[in-house]
Amino acid sequence: GDTDYKTGQKFADHMRDNQAASSEFAKKKTIKEQRQYLPVFAVRQELLNVIRENSVVIIVGETGSGKTTQLTQYLHEDGYSTYGMIGCTQPRRVAAMSVAKRVSDEIGSSLGETVGYAIRFEDCTSENTVIKYMTDGILLRESLRDSDLDSYSAIIMDEAHERSLNTDVLFGLLREVVARRQDLKLIVTSATMDASKFAMFFGNVPTYTIPGRTFPVETFFSKNLVEDYVDASVKQALQIHLQSSPGDILVFMPGQEDIEVTCEVLAERLGEIDNAPQLAILPIYSQLPSDLQAKIFQRSPDGLRKCVVATNIAETSLTVDGIMFVIDSGFCKLKVYNPRIGMDALQIYPISQANANQRSGRAGRTGPGQCYRLYTERQFKDELLVTTVPEIQRTNLANTVLLLKSLGVQDLLQFHFMDPPPQDNILNSLYQLWILGALDHTGTLTPLGRQMAEFPLDPPQCQMLIVSTEMGCCAEILIIVSMLSVPSIFYRPKGREEEADSVREKFQVPESDHLTFLNVYNQWKQNNYSANWCNEHFIHVKAMRKVREVRQQLKDILEQQKMAMVSCGTDWDIIRKCICSAYFHQAARLKGIGEYVHCRTGMPCHLHPTSALFGMGFTPDYVVYHELVMTAKEYMQCVTAVDGQWLAELGPMFFSLKETGKSGSAKRRQAQVHLQEMEAQMRAAQQEIQMRQDE
Ligand code: ADP
Ligand code: MG
Repeated sequence: GDTDYKTGQKFADHMRDNQAASSEFAKKKTIKEQRQYLPVFAVRQELLNVIRENSVVIIVGETGSGKTTQLTQYLHEDGYSTYGMIGCTQPRRVAAMSVAKRVSDEIGSSLGETVGYAIRFEDCTSENTVIKYMTDGILLRESLRDSDLDSYSAIIMDEAHERSLNTDVLFGLLREVVARRQDLKLIVTSATMDASKFAMFFGNVPTYTIPGRTFPVETFFSKNLVEDYVDASVKQALQIHLQSSPGDILVFMPGQEDIEVTCEVLAERLGEIDNAPQLAILPIYSQLPSDLQAKIFQRSPDGLRKCVVATNIAETSLTVDGIMFVIDSGFCKLKVYNPRIGMDALQIYPISQANANQRSGRAGRTGPGQCYRLYTERQFKDELLVTTVPEIQRTNLANTVLLLKSLGVQDLLQFHFMDPPPQDNILNSLYQLWILGALDHTGTLTPLGRQMAEFPLDPPQCQMLIVSTEMGCCAEILIIVSMLSVPSIFYRPKGREEEADSVREKFQVPESDHLTFLNVYNQWKQNNYSANWCNEHFIHVKAMRKVREVRQQLKDILEQQKMAMVSCGTDWDIIRKCICSAYFHQAARLKGIGEYVHCRTGMPCHLHPTSALFGMGFTPDYVVYHELVMTAKEYMQCVTAVDGQWLAELGPMFFSLKETGKSGSAKRRQAQVHLQEMEAQMRAAQQEIQMRQDE
């Protein structure tokens, strides 16, 4: 049916009066009282009834109404966990971990027991786990092993409005699963009101709206164009702190770098003001260590104002209580396919109007609030998109295509996407998989492609690992791939930069950053994985421990796949050749002194100053790189010197030694022709399959 459940306004009003009167009381409530105080609690029974009567339900509710932390517990209390786990997917890993911790505290068990979480390379669950929070990517991979997801009795797809790539793919898959499994409950939650699209997609399923409890938020636009949003937000935060009534501040910044600078400058300027009241400045972003992340939820001592500086993680995924002031820079980081470099790049973009409204809403949870937008009203109306383009329509889909192909989806253009990706994205992804040897000319998965899908890594890294088993350097490549999976190994403490750099130089293998990684790991191992050794060498010990765990997990998969773990000893040329075999499409050629151009596109690329190859007086003719980072320049990150001959052998479709003189535009044309050939062949193959099916 198309029933729409809405509850009267009366309750909301009652709760509002209640809450306004008792904000002091709110701080001292027990966990049980806090749970009962959430808007979702008032409709608990009604919700459970709707869920019992329908296999798919869409639930809409304001951020902070209790969807993420309570729905799993309600289902558990209602008995669903007796015949399967209750799974809850999150687009962000930080949210999965933080919410699991909160819910295990609420239930009163330790994390990983009744309540657990799973993110890539980290499974914190046990046989006793009945409520499992996880990233949407994890559930997607689980569907490879168990296409009906039989270990779950209920799945909550949380934060559906985010439209993350993996959530969008899960939509298509779960639509089929609920058709096959009458006993499975699927709940899709969204913070925004445009839930009708989700309801339609699943066949006109009911939508339940949790009555909200929000206070008015006064919104101020900037009068003039803001040139430096970091500076502007620091000024705004100071003004609020020095002049306004009590209440915490939340600042939205696009990413980690801006957050760090904002926190630093804010602390500095505050220090320059005589007798300024203290301010607790708290950053939050995905790579922040989890003990520091937890700090944003801790109650600060009486009278001390909090200023949380966050990425859009605080927009809907995490709710910090007590925010009365929001400062919105107007920007966020998005992964977008960049045709110029032929791959995704994480770049700063203006937010959408929907983001802006979510952000300002954060100020109205505990009382009337204020939101300061660091952009003009005209910019808001004329320059911001109404909603963000879903990830599936703007990023590389190679991983997704590999996964869907191994799930038996032959024709991706026929897959039931809520918003289908542009055909060009699909083709580019097919092309990337084809040059890696994961697909054949008909677009069918090759044995190599099938093996690649087993590893939770990006396609080139999967390929490198599998090829290394044949080339006899698997033990070494395994370490390199594991090192590439953690964010950063080296650190440069303030005031000791030079010391850190000179220690780092001692590890460097002049022809390769990949080999430098290997070198670091091997030396750590020789020093019995010592924490002291890491500290002495300006290396993050936590990151290294993570590398060791990742290595073990990948090793388990290699063993399951019966692939040989062989070492090449000290013959490191083999390793470079193996790296070359997976990254030959990301190669650059020396053009002038210290200047490289991309082999396929002719675009200039630069060695990063932290690279082992930088300023060593050794500039090889050819290099391959792990990724391109777009800052002031296009920097190649993690680079290895390779032989031109290898490139010609490994990527004959791109390189022949004679052709290296061709101009960039000629190369781009050639690549285009090449792509078109592949496309024509794959299309012909698809048509043939279709014809055979029709007969
Ligand atoms: P929703 O999913 O509807 O946005 P949540 O279930 O995430 O709402 O949040 C409900 C309440 O739980 C909020 O008041 C929030 O402050 C609190 N909460 C969530 N996570 C934590 C945490 N890690 N520590 C303390 N409180 C938390
Ligand atoms: Mg939530």
